[in-house]
Amino acid sequence: VKTNGKGGYQFFEAGFHATLRARLELEAELRAAVAHDEFTMVYQPRIDVITGATLSLEALVRWQHPSRGLLEPREFIALAEETGLIVGIGELVIDKVCAQLAAWTSPGGELVPVSVNVSPRQFSHANVADLVTAALDRHGVPARLFEVEITESSMMESGSQAPRMLEALHAQGVKILVDDFGTGYSSLSQLQKLDFDVLKVDQAFTAEIAHTNESRVFFTAIVTMAHALGMRVVAEGVESLEQVRILKSLDCDEIQGYYISPPLPPGDAQPVAPRAALA
Ligand code: C2E
Ligand code: CA
Ligand code: CA
Ligand code: CA
Repeated sequence: VKTNGKGGYQFFEAGFHATLRARLELEAELRAAVAHDEFTMVYQPRIDVITGATLSLEALVRWQHPSRGLLEPREFIALAEETGLIVGIGELVIDKVCAQLAAWTSPGGELVPVSVNVSPRQFSHANVADLVTAALDRHGVPARLFEVEITESSMMESGSQAPRMLEALHAQGVKILVDDFGTGYSSLSQLQKLDFDVLKVDQAFTAEIAHTNESRVFFTAIVTMAHALGMRVVAEGVESLEQVRILKSLDCDEIQGYYISPPLPPGDAQPVAPRAALA
């Protein structure tokens, strides 16, 4: 460690230890949270950009911390992945979503499916396909109501069991969505190997779309390729009507974001509210 003087070094040390202690404390709390199941889910609609119909709901995890209130994923998911606790959290999430699908009722109508985020590490430590199938059976939920979101990197890792498990799920009628598209080591060739249903373009691109021509060119290329491969395209993080209009003109199929709806508690998410077509 390079320092200007003794004081600086001690300052660094103190800060380092404080950070380490906080991290260890959070890890212990997270371990207890998995044991006691302190997690809840919120659900964000994904809609058809033309009709405005809600097509699906993305399940997003929250940690009801005993003393610090409701924590968002950015405060614990990275640590959960580093420590492997994501495997236990993932199992709880899959079960919770299936229980919720069984609990929701839609008078005279169909329920819309729910998409669940699955981390790369879950694929190497558990048979995700078996977990999902067992949870669907346990709660009597049809596979068509369950969708899986995976990032590109899950498939890129060599030796990953992800492709095999995704094929198994897909064969049962579970839709597979590619998440955060455009941010990873994007390999377009990867996309043709598996039969993905939906491509979710990362919100960083949506944020640019009203500002630069390059971002619109990029988006158009993705849409063209996705459609040629039989996939639908979702823009994530849509925050304005201007973005909606541009995305529509670029032939984007579906949108998700605060402009449409924030993530909702289960009771507000289904049955879905009727929605008018967007301008
Ligand atoms: P993600 O899968 O990309 O999920 C979208 C995130 O963007 C969510 O954050 C959502 O609340 C937020 N978002 C939605 N609309 C907008 C918008 O218009 N503008 C902006 N700026 N953000 C928007 P959230 O719920 O905090 O989740 C963050 C990340 O944590 C997720 O990113 C996902 O990678 C991870 N995550 C969430 N739930 C789970 C889970 O159950 N399992 C796993 N493995 N990861 C999860
Ligand atoms: Ca996602
Ligand atoms: Ca995403
Ligand atoms: Ca397809």
